[in-house]
Amino acid sequence: MRLSRYYLPTLKENPKEAEIVSHRLMLRSGMVRQSAAGIYSWLPLGFKVLSKVEKIVREEQDRAGCQEMLMPTLQPMELWQRSGRYEDYGPEMLRVTDRHDRGLLYGPTNEEMLTDIIANTVRSYRDFPKLLYHIQWKFRDEVRPRFGVMRGREFLMKDCYSFDLDKDSARKTYNKMFVAYLKTFQRIGLDVRPMEAETGPIGGDLSHEFIVLADTGESGVFWDDDFKAIDLSDVDYDDEVRVAAVIAHFTELYARTEDRHDAAAFEDKVPEPRRRQGRGIEVGQVFYFGTKYSEPMGAKVTGPGGQSVAVEMGSYGIGVSRLVGAIIEASHDEDGIIWPDPVAPFDLALINLRAGDTDCDAACADIYGKLTSAGVDVLYDDRDERPGAKFADADLVGLPWRLVIGPRGLKDGKVELKRRDGSVDENVALDEALARLIAVAGG
Ligand code: ATP
Ligand code: MG
Repeated sequence: MRLSRYYLPTLKENPKEAEIVSHRLMLRSGMVRQSAAGIYSWLPLGFKVLSKVEKIVREEQDRAGCQEMLMPTLQPMELWQRSGRYEDYGPEMLRVTDRHDRGLLYGPTNEEMLTDIIANTVRSYRDFPKLLYHIQWKFRDEVRPRFGVMRGREFLMKDCYSFDLDKDSARKTYNKMFVAYLKTFQRIGLDVRPMEAETGPIGGDLSHEFIVLADTGESGVFWDDDFKAIDLSDVDYDDEVRVAAVIAHFTELYARTEDRHDAAAFEDKVPEPRRRQGRGIEVGQVFYFGTKYSEPMGAKVTGPGGQSVAVEMGSYGIGVSRLVGAIIEASHDEDGIIWPDPVAPFDLALINLRAGDTDCDAACADIYGKLTSAGVDVLYDDRDERPGAKFADADLVGLPWRLVIGPRGLKDGKVELKRRDGSVDENVALDEALARLIAVAGG
């Protein structure tokens, strides 16, 4: 993409309304614009990142055996009256009335809707287990929408629902989803710690939140610092023994959100020098709640012995749009964003230091063509701007690689190749730079 043609409305100044760095940087780098309190439009750069995050989330759900579907944003009020949550949910629920005076609501979550579908479609115990998910916009009329997409009112969530015949199989499903979450966040390039959590309005008795540690996070958390993450890339979801070992590794040490915190247990289990208390961003949560919805909503099947049993359920959410903010909170410096490679909006910033100069223009056009056809996603800064302005924008937007082409270097066949995270900063021959970039893009 040529920057001269790209819609990238960057801001030089820090917007006053943005209290935290991810919100500032998302506005400044032209990723989003607020449409109403807690409701955002995703501009091309932001939408590219959101789509990449969504793709990783989807791929890992699919690998874990979940099947994607799509439920509507609007739900009939009756469904929620049957589960008893219509009143309980309170003012966070956006209620609407249609022209026939029928009550609808903009879905804050989908337990009721999917349980009802299952209740009406599935009859035999042979139909289970099932794991179904969708990625859909939710609405919660938060009291205090803030921090940009981190606490929006309208936000994109991946929510998955599991249906099992008995507790033992439901627990195995919970474990598999737990590992799917860990793998998803690892692939995105985020350091995430699962913590024991309260179940809140979803209900049930077993739950974990997946937390990115950050001072700007809204959840208070307590943890044992003696923890080392392990690489999960080769974990097979059907390998129950391995999955259980991963769960054991990630849950053996004390790590709880403040609602579940037990000061006595903390002091008892964790030696003083390892005790940590701080803040974190909740990017996902998993729940096992048994028959809380299947019982009132009639999701029952005839078991092998002819008896009627309510199915055992769990639900599993990931805040897809919140993740974009959380990634920035975890990865930035004073000049801008530092995108982890897997979710970067483009792979490379190609900077033409002297747009208008025949040699520079020709060299850049040639490089752009070669890299693009080799599968490298290039944002080519071909604008007629001062080098300083181009570097500042490149730092702000934070693409993993930067290639700088100037008239002096070109004479000696040299270019400047840099990583935004500072791990590479070299003057190299043009061909070598191209070969390296093509190699990292997998071309
Ligand atoms: P929170 O405690 O932050 O209000 P929650 O526990 O109510 O979140 P869940 O019902 O667990 O949220 O929803 C699943 C995921 O959706 C959360 O882990 C979070 O990542 C995301 N999420 C929830 N509320 C919002 C929001 N207002 N804006 C953006 N993402 C959200
Ligand atoms: Mg939650």
